[in-house]
Amino acid sequence: MQELTHFIGGEHVKGTSGRFSDVFNPATGEVEKRCPLASAAEVRAAVENARAAQPGWAAQNPQKRARVMMKFVALLQRDMDKLAEALSREHGKTLPDARGDVQRGLEVAEFCIGAPHLLKGEYTEGAGPGIDMYSMRQPVGVAAGITPFNFPAMIPMWKFCPAIACGNAFILKPSERDPSVPLMLAELMLEAGAPPGVLNVVNGDKEAVDAVLDDPDIAAVGFVGSTPIAHYVYSRGTAAGKRVQCFGGAKNHMIVMPDADMDQAVDALVGAGYGAAGERCMAVSVAVPVGEETADRLVEKLIPRVESLKIGPYTAGEDVDFGPIVTKEALARIKGLVDRGVEEGAELKVDGRNFRLQGYESGNFMGGCLFDRVTKDMDIYKTEIFGPVLSVVRAKSYDEGLALAMDHEYGNGVAIFTRDGDAARDFANRINIGMVGINVPIPVPLAYHTFGGWKKSGFGDLNQHGPDAFKFYTRTKTVTARWPSGVKEGAEFSIPTMG
Ligand code: NAD
Repeated sequence: MQELTHFIGGEHVKGTSGRFSDVFNPATGEVEKRCPLASAAEVRAAVENARAAQPGWAAQNPQKRARVMMKFVALLQRDMDKLAEALSREHGKTLPDARGDVQRGLEVAEFCIGAPHLLKGEYTEGAGPGIDMYSMRQPVGVAAGITPFNFPAMIPMWKFCPAIACGNAFILKPSERDPSVPLMLAELMLEAGAPPGVLNVVNGDKEAVDAVLDDPDIAAVGFVGSTPIAHYVYSRGTAAGKRVQCFGGAKNHMIVMPDADMDQAVDALVGAGYGAAGERCMAVSVAVPVGEETADRLVEKLIPRVESLKIGPYTAGEDVDFGPIVTKEALARIKGLVDRGVEEGAELKVDGRNFRLQGYESGNFMGGCLFDRVTKDMDIYKTEIFGPVLSVVRAKSYDEGLALAMDHEYGNGVAIFTRDGDAARDFANRINIGMVGINVPIPVPLAYHTFGGWKKSGFGDLNQHGPDAFKFYTRTKTVTARWPSGVKEGAEFSIPTMG
């Protein structure tokens, strides 16, 4: 069986802790690889490599670093199919979806080609007599990223591309459930011209994460994953004096107004609710039709669509709607939550719990589930299910629908489907959620905007990618310079003002 490695100082390095986790093919349920779980000493070795590489990398002029990003983009395009195949094999998502995962990361690398422009500072000439003032953005030094299983290409690239373009060295601790693609990305960065040690991949679990959080030489940590771990990483990392941003779980609502184009809304809900088996932080997991009549029409149209979803392994062709769940544990958890919903009295209109796929009986497959008449006190409404399960919560009015989304503890994404510009505008204005779609079910901002949720979906300030990432991975230094001409003045004892 293949034993994966870490990637430290530009080389594949075997794990030495003696601890491993199994990497499965979720479609077959078979273990295909072993992933080494780093000890604190192995994390430290990566940090030392990063520390040694960082000053030289930061000293290269920004356009040279941008050229590395440019080459990296070209290599991602060259290897797109290879990366997508490796990704689908460990994650389970379909090949077109896996290509999207790579593409959405690639677009952040593309944005980072603009680093020379984004890193330009500010300058005030003549801030006082003979005084000029300028601010520059300098890299923080060594930064780290801890990433989830559900986007093993995109999210690592959201983290390391801007960090590296700013002149930092980076330690990536990807998910131990699908670690192959992050290792391939590190090889490509090296091939693109990033010096050894600029991007290191350390595989591992809590032990590696804690070592990252406690390491005095890591200045900034970006995390994406579930909310309890996001909160933990934020608390421990900031207590150690680091700059930390953590993005957590979600429960994304889609409000369907009575005037919405119902076919469009149903298409949107099916794609956004069940795509990637619902294992997306921007998946729509709650549909909120406004008014009983809207709800009846919506549910009636949704049932046959959910019943006819095409589920299969990524090898079954491009028209599969979604694949298996990432692990057996995750599958059992999702089915357990569906059981709970039935116990709580929600109406299970489509039951995918007993779905079986011939030839893949050991795979982690389940069918789509659709609940109607879910209420806000139920566990299935409060909990992030992270599976192919859509809950319909009926609202009597627009205000009730708005309040539902606003009162939920998560605040990642939300959408409204309507033909009424006034309602859409009011919604976008009042909602307390970070990313809003108007007739767009999954409003993931493009690379040159920023991505981030509110409430329990995000800890710390500044968002991911876009201009915010360049702020997160740099520190501002402001220089006040005076080149006196003529008579020298004596000491000044009160705070200088420029008059
Ligand atoms: P997870 O929290 O289990 O794992 C995320 C990372 O934390 C992994 O690298 C993992 O190794 C590490 N980790 C796990 N347990 C830990 C512990 N006890 N101590 C320290 N580190 C630990 O998340 P996941 O299951 O990989 O990913 C799914 C979650 O991520 C969902 O909740 C989803 O909503 C969220 N997510 C959020 C966003 C966002 O931008 N808000 C994007 C994608 C996924």
